[in-house]
Amino acid sequence: MREAMYWTPASDGKVRCGLCPHECLIGEGKAGICRVRVNRNGRLFSLVDGLLAALHTDPVEKKPLYHFHPGGQILSIGTRGCNLKCAFCQNYHISQEAPSATGRDLTMSPGELATMAVSLENNTGIAYTYNEPTVFYEFMLETAREIRRAGLKNVAVTNGFISQAPLAELLPEMDAFNVDLKSFDDGFYRRMAGGRLAPVLETLRAIVAGEKHLEITFLVIPTLNDSEEEFLKMIGWISSELGSDIPLHLSRYFPAWKLHLPPTPVPVLERFACLAMEKMRYVYLGNVGETRFSSTFCPACHRELIRREGYQVTTDGLGPGGACRHCGSRLAGIF
Ligand code: SF4
Repeated sequence: MREAMYWTPASDGKVRCGLCPHECLIGEGKAGICRVRVNRNGRLFSLVDGLLAALHTDPVEKKPLYHFHPGGQILSIGTRGCNLKCAFCQNYHISQEAPSATGRDLTMSPGELATMAVSLENNTGIAYTYNEPTVFYEFMLETAREIRRAGLKNVAVTNGFISQAPLAELLPEMDAFNVDLKSFDDGFYRRMAGGRLAPVLETLRAIVAGEKHLEITFLVIPTLNDSEEEFLKMIGWISSELGSDIPLHLSRYFPAWKLHLPPTPVPVLERFACLAMEKMRYVYLGNVGETRFSSTFCPACHRELIRREGYQVTTDGLGPGGACRHCGSRLAGIF
């Protein structure tokens, strides 16, 4: 257990956590909404510092990141806890559980993780993923500094529900983000995820302003966030506020945790991808197997640059620095 960052004392021995927009007011012996930040004797502590619920090496494409070191592997870590409560969470078994409930987690230090990351073949760096990395902020920040010193890259796969001050401190240590934008409707965020839309949009703006690589994932859930009108509003906002070069991943919903709707029909995803392509240059489908939206095509000459067959990636069409071998146009991203 380690003392947390970003909190202030409040009256009656309570503490106010300032890490995410919930700003939980936490009484003695109690935890915040994320379950993993607790008040002990009027101070706030993290219960998940260096306590890993998941540690794997994954393809970078699995995060998903399609324009960031394609074909690379990345050491991926996560703890328990989350500051949202999405009824459709695929990782609810770790995101909605506190570490004390299991006793099974692996203890590792930032230095040990950096040593492991350096020793792995074809490893890009570390991805903070599986659960929401904001809830293990102190550990992510310290590990990211070690990884950066070792010359590797840091990736955060996040719901974007983080306060601006901790995000500003994190940004210089990160190289890439995949942000899960769950809806463009604040009511959806409140009802289905226990969050709010506006702070997530602020996070997206800050990542772009900080000149970090950004990709966005949008999980299309039948009847809940599949209104074409709302989707077009979202695409309009992304393209005008963030830019039309941001890779967009439209992901197929499958039943999970508390939500048992039928999976998203593939034609709906394809229709959304076509709509998105009217404003965005790079649109991909996820959780659907191979489609015409799996590979990357040059936005200028439309030739194939990166072919993806499952997690098999070939970059034959890509020249040095991410330029198209056929016409020389540069692809947005880090290659
Ligand atoms: S990080 Fe956890 S404790 Fe802190 S405000 Fe967010 S949900 Fe509450």
